Amino acid sequence: MKVFILVDMEGISGICLEAHTTGGTAEYEMARRWMTQDVNAAVQGALDGGASEIVVADGHGTNGMYNLVYHDLHEGASYIEGSPRDWYIAQLDGSFDCMLMVGMHAMSGTPRAVLEHTWSGERWHKARLNGRETGEIGLMAAYAGSFGVPVTFVSGDLAAVTEARQFLGESLITACVKEGLSRYAAKLLPPQTSRELIRKGTAQAVRAAGEAKPYIVETPVALEVDYVRNSHVDVIRAAENVEFVAPRTVRYSGPDVPSALHLMR
Ligand SMILES: [Zn+2]
Repeated sequence: MKVFILVDMEGISGICLEAHTTGGTAEYEMARRWMTQDVNAAVQGALDGGASEIVVADGHGTNGMYNLVYHDLHEGASYIEGSPRDWYIAQLDGSFDCMLMVGMHAMSGTPRAVLEHTWSGERWHKARLNGRETGEIGLMAAYAGSFGVPVTFVSGDLAAVTEARQFLGESLITACVKEGLSRYAAKLLPPQTSRELIRKGTAQAVRAAGEAKPYIVETPVALEVDYVRNSHVDVIRAAENVEFVAPRTVRYSGPDVPSALHLMR
C-alpha cells in the first residue's frame, strides 16, 4: 500500500495567525514544529493502517517550501522539501493507492475559516473548475483523480473539512482540529487530542483506500481564475490557450486537470 501525504500549513493544529505561516517570525518557528507533529501523526496512522511506502510532500509556499523540521521527522516516510520543484506534488502518480491531505484550509471567501484563501491570497480572488467554485482541496483532489488516486483523508479547520466533504463525499474521513471564529481566530483542540484524531483518521483512511473512488472531473477542463489586480494579469496576456473572459478573469483550458494547472502556473 503506497500512500502520498500532501501537507499544507494553514490547517495545522494550533495555527490561526498569519505570523504562524509566514517565515522569519518566532511564531512561524513554533508553528512548523506543530506542522511536523501533525505530519508525524499522519505517518504513524498510515503505518497503522497498513502503508508500506509513504511519501510526504510539503506544499506550503513559505521558507522556500521547506517547512517541516527535519530532525523531528518520523522515520516511516520520505519527505519532499524545498524549491524550485517542477510542481509541488509532481511526485504523485498512478502508482499510489491514496492521497491524504494534512493541514488544509478552506477556499477564498469562506466565512469563519482560518487563513482561507485559494492559491495566493494576494493575487487570486476566486477560482472555478469547470464552472464550480473550487479551492485547493478540490483542485488537488482533481489533480490526484486524473491519475486515478483517491483522496481518503483531510485534516484542517471545520470549514476545510466541511468543504472537503462537499467535494469528496460525506463518507470522507476527516480530522477537524480547530473551529474558525474568524480568519485569524479559532477554537483549538489541545495538541494531543488533535494528533490522536489525525492518527486514527489516517489509519482508517488507509485501510479503506481500496474502496475509495478518485475525484474525477469532466474533460476537457476549464480553470477560471479571478485575479485581484491588473498587474497580476498583464503578464499573462501573451500566453497560448489562455482566454480573458472578464478584465481580470483568465480561463486556462486543457485536455485534463494537470495540463490546465500547469498552464496556470
Ligand atoms: Zn499554505
